[in-house]
Order: sequence, then structure tokens, then C-alpha cells
Amino acid sequence: MPRVQSIQMRVLMWGWGVLIAGLALAFWQYSATLDEETARDFERDTQAKLETVHWLLERSGPFAEPKDRQDFLHSLGGSMGMRISLIEGGRVVADTSVPYAEIGKLDDHSTRPEVLASLGGEVGQSTRHSVTLDRDMIYMAKKLSGGEGAPDTVLRLAAPVSLVRLHLQRMHWALLAAVVPLLLGSGVLLWLLSRTITAGIAQFTDAAQAIGDGDYRRKILFYPAAEFQPLAEAINRMAKKIKKNVKVIENQRGELWAMFEGMSEGVMVLDSGGRILHVNPALSAIFPRAQEFIGRAPLEATMSLDIQNVVDSMMAGDTSERVSRQIELKDRHCAEMTVVPFRDHKFRPRVILVFHDTSEQKRVERVLRDFVANASHQLRTPLTSIRGYAETLLDSPPAEDAKRREFLEVIHANAVHMAKVIGGMFALAKSEREGKRPSDLVASVPQALDHALKNASFAAHDKRIELEVQPLPEGLPAAAADPDGLLQIVESILDNAIKYSPEGTKVRISAEADAQTLTLRFADQGPGISEENQKRIFERFFRADGNGVDGAGSAGLGLAICRHIARNYGGEVSVESPSDADTNTGSVFVVRLPVA
Ligand code: ADP
Repeated sequence: MPRVQSIQMRVLMWGWGVLIAGLALAFWQYSATLDEETARDFERDTQAKLETVHWLLERSGPFAEPKDRQDFLHSLGGSMGMRISLIEGGRVVADTSVPYAEIGKLDDHSTRPEVLASLGGEVGQSTRHSVTLDRDMIYMAKKLSGGEGAPDTVLRLAAPVSLVRLHLQRMHWALLAAVVPLLLGSGVLLWLLSRTITAGIAQFTDAAQAIGDGDYRRKILFYPAAEFQPLAEAINRMAKKIKKNVKVIENQRGELWAMFEGMSEGVMVLDSGGRILHVNPALSAIFPRAQEFIGRAPLEATMSLDIQNVVDSMMAGDTSERVSRQIELKDRHCAEMTVVPFRDHKFRPRVILVFHDTSEQKRVERVLRDFVANASHQLRTPLTSIRGYAETLLDSPPAEDAKRREFLEVIHANAVHMAKVIGGMFALAKSEREGKRPSDLVASVPQALDHALKNASFAAHDKRIELEVQPLPEGLPAAAADPDGLLQIVESILDNAIKYSPEGTKVRISAEADAQTLTLRFADQGPGISEENQKRIFERFFRADGNGVDGAGSAGLGLAICRHIARNYGGEVSVESPSDADTNTGSVFVVRLPVA
């Protein structure tokens, strides 16, 4: 900021400057007039004295001796404080400042200007240095009326100039004596005035500072002069308005912050340098450690060059339109990213990134797509077969009974399979529709196992598979599930274990419980399930070896139904494979249900 002089200094300098200039002008004019007046007074006074001396000289004369006249004039000059000279025909015949004996030695005075002027008939006047007295003198001379044939006589009075000067000097000192206190007094007054102003300004500065620091209740109630009233009122009004606006802004900020924190979409706010400024909690679900990357580039938090490129082009001001795009994330996750550009208060480009996690939506879409494709496929194949055999039987039935029976058996088998598929789909839809069941249901594990083992024994026997039930722990609690539901889960898992295990192997069944959870394990010695398939076998119609129907009428619905039923009771079905690390085979299906 440029250096600005203080108001106090300016008031003092200008006030004093104007006062001094005014006083100097007045003093100069007054002293000039005073000089003139004093000179004129002195002149008038000397002229009056000249007339008086003349009159006294005429009345007192004639003198017997010239010496008497000299003495007379001497006493007169002494009482008047003036030098009196009498000049006849240019010669000095009497002089109060020169001893009588010396008078004859004086110069011829006929050429003195005052003498010359007086001879012309007027009163002669001159100011000059007196050689006789060696000082500046003012002379005034008058011609006296002499007798017939007598030389011209001139009466001359003289007074030292210093007398006048002394008088003037006294007058000047008196004037100065009045001016100096005036100056000092005015200085003090000006200083007091300027101090009042600066004190007022300081009060305003304090108030403005306090308002700036957030003390909006601060008011200016007292001010040094009426001129300050509009300013004080303006500042008070301003503080009130700021207080109101700050309230509005704070409320809005609170609302926006709550929205920001509570949004289900992940939000990343960047600063004008393209660095992360804020992230909301939802963003952590998409980019787990986003919070740790505040102040860093989006690339570091997202590890996506695609995102960084979009941000860079937005920050370069290439586009002012929002941009939306799908982005692929780790682990088959995906999100829809919307980049919203805006300008900050300095008109610099900035962006906000909004991420909507579409992984679940995509997964549901995919499952639905597969479901429709698989369901139509699952039903179309047996239906085509039924139609073909039925048409053959109607149009050209084979002659032999055995052949006709074979055709009817195929039709029947396919109808059974279709019923199984539709039944499975129905069970699944039912379990989804019913949602969670009340937890006051009780299913006995030994009962369910007993029932399921009996049903599976024929299939197991055919493949020489041993179903080995580990001794159940004593006091094993019941499961909080519907008995039919538990039976369906156990049957499906046992069915699979027998179906997918090679002949002559073993399926080991065990159960255990803690205070909350009852756990059933079905460990087979089958081929095992790859890690990738483990994630998918619980989807509808998913079959690890392709989606076709196998000879046993499997349609990839069994495990999907199991998981749905278990989840309805607050439980879960999962798989661990391989169970035998050496041979890389075997699967363990684990069913967890809440304890009743
Ligand atoms: P499916 O009707 O095909 O048996 P599931 O839903 O019961 O349908 O099983 C889905 C897929 O999981 C099966 O196609 C199979 O590939 C795999 N699977 C299920 N149980 C086992 C198991 N015990 N051992 C190996 N693979 C299994």
C-alpha cells in the first residue's frame, strides 16, 4: 500500500500552514501601514514642534547676543528631545548639538536638501546620515521671514531615525507577542480536533475488525460528530445483513453437508488444482482408502487412468458439460461416474465426481438375463421332444407296442423333468415372495437327516457311495427353520454329493452348534469346485459343466433354492473346495442356521 499521511498530521499541517500564511500576510500589511503611519505621525509632530519653536523664537527675540539665542534654543531642544539648528545664508548660526564655540566650524548648509526645499517656501524634509552627529537623522526645515536685505534664515529641527525605528520595533514585538500564543493555541486546538476525528476513526476500525472476525452483534452507538452518523448507521446495517447472510449460508452449508455425508452415491470434490478436497463416506464403498488420498490426484485414490483423463480434460476447460461414463473397477465391480464441472469464485475450472455403484444392478441384470435364457432353454428342449414324439404317435404310430411304449416313456420323462424345473422355479419364487419367516419355527436336525438319508440311500447304493453321519453332539439344538425347508436343503446337498462324486467314495455328514448357530457339513470326495465356479453355483440355472439338462434332470436350480431357503431363516449355505489339498478334490457344503 502507498504511504499515506495521517489525518492528524494533515489537519495540523494544513491548519497551521493556512494560519501562518494568513498571519504573515496580515503582519506584513499591518507593519507596512504601521511604518507609514508612524512616519506620518512623526512628521506631523516634528512639523508642529517646528511651528512651536518658530513662534517661541519670534516671541523671545530679538536676542542681545547670538550666544543668548544659542542658549535659548539649547534649552528648548533639550526639553523637546530634538536638535534645533538656525541657518542664515547657508551658515549655521545656532545649533543645539554643537558647542557655541564650534558653530563657526560647521559646513555650509545651503545645499542641504531640507534647507533648499524650505527656501522654496515649503517645509523641507530629508532623512540622511548626519556627519556632525554620526547617526541617521530626520530633518525638517522652515524658512523664517527675515528683514529687508537680511540673509535668508532657516529654522531646522532634527530627530534621530532610531527613535522612530525603536518605536516601530516595539510595535512589532507587541504584534509578535500576540501572534505566537495565537499560533500555539491554534495548534493545540487543531491537535485536539484531529484527535477527536482519529479517535472516531479508530472506533470505526475496531468495529469493522470485530465484524470481520465474526462478532456480528457489534454496534457503533457513539460517534464523535454528527457527520459520522451515516457511516455508523451504514456499518451497523452492514453487520446486521452479514449476520443474516452468514446464518443463511451456515444453514445451507449444514444441509449440503448432511446431503453430502448421507448420499448413497460416492462423491469426490476436487480443488482448483485437480487435487482431492473432500470425499464422502459412500465413496469408501467404491474406493476403500479414498479418505487417505485427500490432497492427492484422483488417479492415486482410484487407480484409474480413465478417470484421471476425464478430470484432466475437464480441468483444462475443454468442456463445460457434465460427462457420464461407465467405469470398470476391480473384482467385476463397475460404477457409473458423472463428472460435473463448475467454476469457483475466481472463475477457475473445478469438478465434482459422483460415483454410482452399479455392480449389484449389473449383476441382477446379468442373472435375470441368464435366467430368462436358461428357463426358455430348459423348457424348450423337453417340450420339443414331447411335441416330436406326440406328433409321431399321432401321425404315424409305430406298429410295435414296445416302440410306442418307449415313445410314451420319453414323453413322460420329459414331462417329469419339466415339472421338476417348473417346481424348482416355483419353490424359488415362493421362497423369495415369502421373505424371512418368523423365527419361532423349529426343525429337528436328526429328523431331517434321517429322512434325507433314507431317500438318498438307493442312489448312494447304486454308486456304492457310503453316507457316513458323524455322531451328533449331545443336546444338539434344533434349527430355527421350517422342517420342510431344512429337509429340502439337506436333500439337495446330499443329492448333489452323490451325483457329482465318483463311485465308491464317501460322503461325511456332521453337525455342531454354538449358542447362536447350528452348522451342518456335507463333505464329499467329488471333483471339487473351482474358485470361480464357487461364486456362481448358487445362481439360478448355473451348472458348472454347461447349462444343459443332464440325464438326471438337473437344471442348476438346487443350490439357488437351498441358499434362498437358508437366507429366509437368517442362515446361509456356502461351499469350501478343494477339501483335500493333496488331490485337489472334494467339496464341503456348509449350512448355517440360527439356533431355535
Ligand atoms: P444341478 O441341478 O446342476 O445340480 P445345483 O444348483 O444343485 O444344480 O448345482 C449347481 C452346480 O454346482 C452343478 O451343476 C455342479 O456343477 C456344481 N455342484 C453342486 N454340488 C456339487 C458337488 N458336490 N461337487 C461338485 N460340483 C457340485
